[in-house]
Amino acid sequence: MAKVLDGNRIRDEIKTECRSRVEQLISRGRAPGLAVVLVGHNPASEIYVRNKVKTSQELGIAGETITPPEDITTVELLAIVGSLNQRSDIDGILVQMPLPSHIDARRIVEAILPAKDVDGLHPCNAGNLVTGRPGPRPCTPAGIIELLKRCRIPIAGQRAVVVGRSDLVGKPAAFLLLHENATVTICHSKTPDLPAVCREAEILIAAIGRPALITSAYIRPGATVIDVGINRLDNRADVERIFPHDRPGSAQKLEVFDRKGSLLVGDAHPFDVAESAGAYTPVPGGVGPLTIAMLMSNTIDSAERRIGSC
Ligand code: NDP
Repeated sequence: MAKVLDGNRIRDEIKTECRSRVEQLISRGRAPGLAVVLVGHNPASEIYVRNKVKTSQELGIAGETITPPEDITTVELLAIVGSLNQRSDIDGILVQMPLPSHIDARRIVEAILPAKDVDGLHPCNAGNLVTGRPGPRPCTPAGIIELLKRCRIPIAGQRAVVVGRSDLVGKPAAFLLLHENATVTICHSKTPDLPAVCREAEILIAAIGRPALITSAYIRPGATVIDVGINRLDNRADVERIFPHDRPGSAQKLEVFDRKGSLLVGDAHPFDVAESAGAYTPVPGGVGPLTIAMLMSNTIDSAERRIGSC
């Protein structure tokens, strides 16, 4: 059976390091400051923001959550970002995505001062990533690299295949792996014979958003599989297809589904990945916990740079 790469353990390690970095910053003058902007009442966004704020409080990061109404205009939201850019006590600005469709999300991201862009999504920071210059890196891909390094999975010289080419996960993950000297292939929905390309991977990153797509046919025996996907199943037939009755562990998953009315699964098939991979991240408990940890780390990085340069 494959080794399980425990994202919760790595998250706790990173949080412990963050706590002592925050204490050092406080002893030098002030706590790092993170402003989170949550527009409207998207239930998933509300949960994400609650978790981000809770973690920042646990670490001693000074937080502020701004909750404009759903019908805020692009211009009004730009003004909020502009005022946060000006504030000396705010080191990181996070505008929770997705924004309502009438808002020009690109303009909002571009308005955030690149030095305070703790999500690493500003085009300047995308350029910094591609060219290997310092700057905040997108949190989920940065978490993947932390996880690989802290689990002592070699990256240099390895064949890495990233399935997914989003600006948020796939592309930045590919560039971070490239900077670690992996040989990287990026795949997407138009890639012919995806299983054959994936089977070349010693490190396979699945950032697709398709439940259990990555079966044994996609996995080189012994490969490390990093499953970024978070897919919510709300149909019992789908749960039974992925977790058939005759497999140990299926009954427990069905029990969770019946209790909650939904079940989270990754992009990798949970049984196939456990049988074929050498090591893999579970869902939940793999990559997910690292995203918030890296947001905290990015905020502290920004504060260290800004307080250091005062
Ligand atoms: P996007 O929808 O933006 O991108 C998905 C990518 O997968 C696209 O590049 C798409 O290709 C590709 N794709 C879709 N279907 C297929 C297919 N059948 N075969 C090959 N490639 C395919 O998603 P994100 O990158 O934002 O997120 C990916 C997953 O990761 C989601 O499940 C999301 O919930 C999860 N996620 C998890 C996070 C965490 O903290 N763990 C954080 C962020 C995301 P194309 O470009 O051709 O359309």
